[in-house]
Amino acid sequence: MDDVRASVLSTIGNTPLVKLNRTGCRNIEIYVKLEYYSPGFSIKDRIAIGMIEDAERKGILKKGDTVIGKTSGNTGIGLAIACAVKGYKFITVMSAGNSMEKTVMLKALGAHVVLVPQQPGEEPDVVSRKDNEAVEKKTDELTEELHAYRPNQYINPVNYLIHEYTTGSEIIKQSDGNIDAFVAFVGTGGTFVGISSALKKFRKDIKCYPVEPDSAQFLAGKQVITTRHKIQGGGHAVKPPYWDESLVDGYLSVTDDEAIDTARHLASKEGIFPGFSGGANVAAAMKLDKTMDRGSIVVTVLPDSGLKYLSSDLYKF
Ligand code: PMP
Repeated sequence: MDDVRASVLSTIGNTPLVKLNRTGCRNIEIYVKLEYYSPGFSIKDRIAIGMIEDAERKGILKKGDTVIGKTSGNTGIGLAIACAVKGYKFITVMSAGNSMEKTVMLKALGAHVVLVPQQPGEEPDVVSRKDNEAVEKKTDELTEELHAYRPNQYINPVNYLIHEYTTGSEIIKQSDGNIDAFVAFVGTGGTFVGISSALKKFRKDIKCYPVEPDSAQFLAGKQVITTRHKIQGGGHAVKPPYWDESLVDGYLSVTDDEAIDTARHLASKEGIFPGFSGGANVAAAMKLDKTMDRGSIVVTVLPDSGLKYLSSDLYKF
């Protein structure tokens, strides 16, 4: 019994970094960190367990408490796993527009799922700002009503710190520090801010690029009246309080079609099966091929698995 884990929580993180071999890029090499290797099949397991253990250490969360989360699914799944293992009740609030795979999985993991109906005129599998605001309102109401603990990833510094200390330092170790650029699609911004901080502390000249949907280039400074795109997990057109402009070397954007086509290419040509945002990240990384020197190394993350989107049109041909 010398190679066993105390619980599934010890299997979070330490994900593989894999070279892409069929990108068609002339100058750059792209490496992807397969975050779907975690038990909840996403990068968000890291921050879920991080926020729960931080609250336990601070005495905010005690035995028998209820935890509540507003999430497009992945953080909720991570929190559901942490709460199942540690014995907390868990409620998750999400838009009915999210893929049903996440809802089914959350319920199986013991979560109580509150689905907020989509706002009039909004389409399923399309992330809209109005839907996001409705979910926020419902989560606030329930948190107060139930005296629940809400580990709010949008303001909790653990969100980016966990990526600085785990994901970022894993990338540096796995690549022996041979990195020229990093790109990440932004939801709460925890992934981008945390990993970029680790990389820039390691070597200031590593270029870091946040990725946004083409139709919602909010952080890049464009006016966004409403967000309507398919890249679940981000592109909400909000600036997180810990957003740090000094980490940004330029903004990249991708269309829904670019994200989808790239995800399909990764699946059929590289045997890698990501969600929408993984496709978006690799599509964005490939755009650096035009401007970077030959032999440059670009790293990105594949935040979750294509299995979470079987009912969407991501892999419908
Ligand atoms: N992709 C997916 C699938 C996600 O669930 C998330 C997190 N919501 C992100 C990307 C963005 O990560 P972050 O919140 O750290 O910016």
